[in-house]
Amino acid sequence: MSYPEKFQGIAVADHKDWKNPIKIDYEPKKFYDHDVDVEIDACGVCGSDIHCAAGHWGQKKLPLVVGHEIIGRVVRVGPKCHTGVKKGDRVGVGAQVYACLDCERCKSDYENYCPDFVTTYSQPYKDGYVSQGGYATHVRVHEHFVIPIPENIPTHLAAPLLCGGITVFSPLLNNGCGPNKKVGIVGIGGIGHMGLIFAKAMGAEVYAISRSSRKKKDALELGADHFIATKEDPEWYKKFSSTLDLVVVCASSLTDVNFDELVKVMRIPGRILSISVPDNSERLTLKPMELPGVLIGNSCLGSRKELLELLKLVSEKNLKIWVETLPISVKSVHEAFDRMDKGDVRYRFTFIDYDKEFKR
Ligand SMILES: [Zn+2]
Ligand SMILES: [Zn+2]
Repeated sequence: MSYPEKFQGIAVADHKDWKNPIKIDYEPKKFYDHDVDVEIDACGVCGSDIHCAAGHWGQKKLPLVVGHEIIGRVVRVGPKCHTGVKKGDRVGVGAQVYACLDCERCKSDYENYCPDFVTTYSQPYKDGYVSQGGYATHVRVHEHFVIPIPENIPTHLAAPLLCGGITVFSPLLNNGCGPNKKVGIVGIGGIGHMGLIFAKAMGAEVYAISRSSRKKKDALELGADHFIATKEDPEWYKKFSSTLDLVVVCASSLTDVNFDELVKVMRIPGRILSISVPDNSERLTLKPMELPGVLIGNSCLGSRKELLELLKLVSEKNLKIWVETLPISVKSVHEAFDRMDKGDVRYRFTFIDYDKEFKR
């Protein structure tokens, strides 16, 4: 049995052996009137995939297909769909597949903070079905979370925008990134590299903040105007005292980020937004006394409206994020997981060649 009764995917079967996934067939969720089926052509590898696969966020229902930076073509459209999505459209699906679309947050275009949020993989819907992600032949999802992709963005470069890209773009957009603003990006591998590109494209003066100067050349090429290596210059926060209007923290671990130093480089009223979703055991530590006038907060994904805005920016300015492609397979998922775990990627993986791996 195959589509539409069954999907096929590459799944983590054991958190302890997460780097060795297996191929599985599984039943899709029930098809509702607002649902869309997407035949997948590519999927980015997000840090969340690693955290979830490795069990950093607790035991998940296994086997689990991760992946939430999906690009594909629409093959089925529910009878009540009204967003204009059509069969054959090239679309993206990010890290969210459901929201109530009726609460105050949803109605004000913050459905990414809806209390009924369902994430693209590993979370039960209200009917009990546990969502499965994009290392698979297909994904079935509510039309609101199916995003049209502008023609001039290549598929492998579009995929990482759907989670990583929007996650760093949303706090930039919502906190005044633009001309005459000085914006810092902390942690410039992975998602951070997109932060540098977007902040520059939005017109800000951009500061790349990293522990060592290993990525300095890349950061300047990506659009940073300044580079700060915090571990190589213990006085860095004195040199850049009261400089930045906005900082987005993209480091995968917050334990390593020294917030006591970071607040000193902020102008008043500066804002520090973290987008990290680290291991369950991590805690953020800072001295409350050092905080006067600086706001610290968290930002999670982005809305459909913000995603459309990001795609418009990337399309109009022809922005190119840095992506390594791998042909989807059990072997490639192993390789991507292993290299991501070691931080060995410049700066994002996208799985491609789905037609070669999956008979559909
Ligand atoms: Zn809602
Ligand atoms: Zn993600």
